Amino acid sequence: QAKSHGRSRLQFWEPGMQAPYSERMQIEADLRRALARNEFVLFYQPQVDTVSGEVRGFEALLRWWHPQRGLLTPADFIPVAEESGVIVPIGDWVLREASAQLAEWRKADLPAMRLSVNISARQLESPDFVDSVMRAVQVYALDGRQLELEITESLLMRDFEANAIKLGRLSAAGIRLAIDDFGTGYSSFKYLSRFPIHTLKIDQSFVQDLDREENLSIVNAMIAMGRGMNLTVIAEGVETESQLARLQQMQCHEIQGHYCSPPLSGHAATVMLGQHGPGFAHGVQRAAS
Ligand code: C2E
Ligand code: MG
Ligand code: MG
Ligand code: MG
Repeated sequence: QAKSHGRSRLQFWEPGMQAPYSERMQIEADLRRALARNEFVLFYQPQVDTVSGEVRGFEALLRWWHPQRGLLTPADFIPVAEESGVIVPIGDWVLREASAQLAEWRKADLPAMRLSVNISARQLESPDFVDSVMRAVQVYALDGRQLELEITESLLMRDFEANAIKLGRLSAAGIRLAIDDFGTGYSSFKYLSRFPIHTLKIDQSFVQDLDREENLSIVNAMIAMGRGMNLTVIAEGVETESQLARLQQMQCHEIQGHYCSPPLSGHAATVMLGQHGPGFAHGVQRAAS
């Protein structure tokens, strides 16, 4: 199936698999051109309070409107962007775009929301990282507390000392830190507690299979730990009412997943915020009562 008619080549690139040099150069050029032509777009997925059913925040998720191949998701291009380093300017664009969205909602007098942005390895390691986040916050005159950075535990642990300093500086400006895909990496609890963490996001692999006794105990322990550390605990990838019911029983603070809403366009998210109120997430309230 690996026919490589021009543009379809990205599909066959897998992390860890080295594309030939010329192809990597081509893909890198494609990504830079996409940035210049404004082909990237952010979608926003609501994070919903399991008790009140209210939207507490959104996660910004990157998409690429490819002129030939249509809407691409991160799996199609993030590995290449990461390998080539183009993820750094793309990540910078994501930060500015997310900040612009927060500023737009504020101007429209919509309820203040937390917005989280995914940070990749190369971005975090870039010497300009802290300044790049601070610039986005300053340019749009944001309250730093509205912006949350999602970083995986493995990435945090990779260069522990340097990351602790960087994230400490951002935390001093109010910016929040979420541990993404929690449970899938190798974090030492001892080190984890030295980061200014606000949010724990339980990986969807645990949530998907909550009917298994084993996963239920793990998730229960993760929620208890998060609550004990005064963190906001969010379960990712919640798709069914029974998953939600179990998470509510275990007192998980928030859920994110198709059960509440898929990732939305900026316009659709704005409309949702306009109608926002306790009545929004009917499914959550039904299960809560
Ligand atoms: P993630 O940060 O763990 O994001 C959650 C993923 O789960 C998203 O996939 C989202 O669309 C998907 N999802 C949401 N609800 C459900 C559900 O109910 N069931 C299932 N099965 N999946 C659900 P997406 O948008 O394809 O993003 C994949 C990954 O790409 C993200 O995982 C994140 O690691 C990365 N990513 C996304 N946006 C960015 C970005 O702006 N920069 C960087 N560096 N990485 C990004
Ligand atoms: Mg994430
Ligand atoms: Mg995740
Ligand atoms: Mg993930």
